Amino acid sequence: MRLTFWGGARTVTGSAFLLESERYKVLVDCGMFQGGKAMRKMNELDFPFPPQEIDYVLLTHAHIDHSGLIPKLYKQGFKGRVLCTKPTLNLCQIMLPDSGHIQEMENEWVNRKRARSGLSPLEPLYTVEDAQNCLKLFLPIEFGRVIEVTPELSVRFSVAGHILGSAIVEVWVKVNGVRKKLVFSGDLGNKNRPIVRDPQYIEEADWIILESTYGNRFHETTEETYEELKEVIIKTVKRKGKIIIPSFAVGRTQEILYALNEMVNKKEIPLIPVYLDSPLAISATKVFERNQQFFDEEATALLLEGDNPFEFSNLFFTLTAEESKKLNESEDPCIIISASGMADAGRIKHHLKHNLWKETTSVIFVGYQAQGSLGRRILDGEKRVRILGEEVSVNAEIYSMEGLSAHADQNGLMEWLAHFKSPVEKIFLVHGEEEGIENLKRRVKEELKIEAVAPERGDSFEILEGKQEISVASRKGQYVQLPDWQLAEIFFQSLSDLESEYVAFREKLLNLTLSREDRKKLSVIIPKLEELKEKIKQYQQVCQPD
Ligand SMILES: [Zn+2]
Repeated sequence: MRLTFWGGARTVTGSAFLLESERYKVLVDCGMFQGGKAMRKMNELDFPFPPQEIDYVLLTHAHIDHSGLIPKLYKQGFKGRVLCTKPTLNLCQIMLPDSGHIQEMENEWVNRKRARSGLSPLEPLYTVEDAQNCLKLFLPIEFGRVIEVTPELSVRFSVAGHILGSAIVEVWVKVNGVRKKLVFSGDLGNKNRPIVRDPQYIEEADWIILESTYGNRFHETTEETYEELKEVIIKTVKRKGKIIIPSFAVGRTQEILYALNEMVNKKEIPLIPVYLDSPLAISATKVFERNQQFFDEEATALLLEGDNPFEFSNLFFTLTAEESKKLNESEDPCIIISASGMADAGRIKHHLKHNLWKETTSVIFVGYQAQGSLGRRILDGEKRVRILGEEVSVNAEIYSMEGLSAHADQNGLMEWLAHFKSPVEKIFLVHGEEEGIENLKRRVKEELKIEAVAPERGDSFEILEGKQEISVASRKGQYVQLPDWQLAEIFFQSLSDLESEYVAFREKLLNLTLSREDRKKLSVIIPKLEELKEKIKQYQQVCQPD
């Protein structure tokens, strides 16, 4: 049994960890490399393993640096299953085709250039169609349930509190008849973040594979960050400037909307227009609305009071490119939230080009800025940057609000580690850059007396039981599918989820205060719902596991 680090090794993007025994190959995450040009080039490399031999992908969450190469894996022959939580599946349903679209567009641009130099056209990394097709291999798994994937391999997804649906993946493997346990933290969130639940603590592990994005940083609390955000908005409106927020479409954006909704409700900020200018972020927000059963207590309470945090009077969604361009015609103060979060793609580049040179503007970065990205260069204090072919002076006020980040800081990571009770054999630090990793490594050594390992890309580690070395030379069988009874069980579980969603929805409907007109309409809807419930019951009877 062996674990090899193929991505997210001394870098934050491209997460991919291969776990292989003689009987199966499992990939934990299959992410895209992001950031500067050299990093993006890595996506074009052949997979360092045959894609058709991968039996399962265990996907921690939907972010592209964890999921973005699954369509490429599929295109090159992967026919196994992708196990993830339901919100992760729902988010991938919009994010992967969106990524396919970006690949097609970029490829077209490259090929136009190649044609002018007399070169033959290249294929895109993958297409929208590849992305849509690979989604058929996804199987949603319930949080907290141990799934025996094969007799030698069991997995459980626990709440990671990073974005909706994000999971810590616990993996039990059998080595020479003895169980070993690996815990992949995925991206770990902070405690007390809006919308998402707090990360769960895990108590047992032999090996821990821990993210270290902010291994060298200490975040402000959510309250302190909100206070700062409020002040920047008030200050910028006073000098009649715009507030530009490059934001990650999924997760960060919804949290910012949540915060702004609260500030608007409490009348703490001036009522200026807030534009959500990213089609992907708009779709992602809708996925959030459909997955409210995964929200934390505070967000659920808010919904029950009838306040949808993603809807307030001055919030506007700009879907078309024309609407987006119009935002730059007006000089009035407003808040523009747009993707990408590292400012190296998408509509945000236009907003930065039009506003970065103005002293009245405030730009607020709300997440990790990878080395080489435009966001990182602005944040590092470059005075002139090139955006869409133009040199632009950086005169705006630049803020970085790491407290809005979805990643735990050093204290958060250490606190999570401290909850393991069993003696831990090995800790691997992944998903971080040099400084984060080294700082965290030092602290792990000081407090836990463990020499953590920071693997390089391609480093491989044997999981041993006792003194016997496990050979991985021969590869006997392949599990391409979960056994039928497990599929039935998962399906049964989905039906039970559906049933409880139905009950909650019906309750909500019946508790509404409605006009007579609306009551009439409701009397048509309720029997339809009952019909649906009958269908769920019928299916449940068919696939009830023994
Ligand atoms: Zn992430």
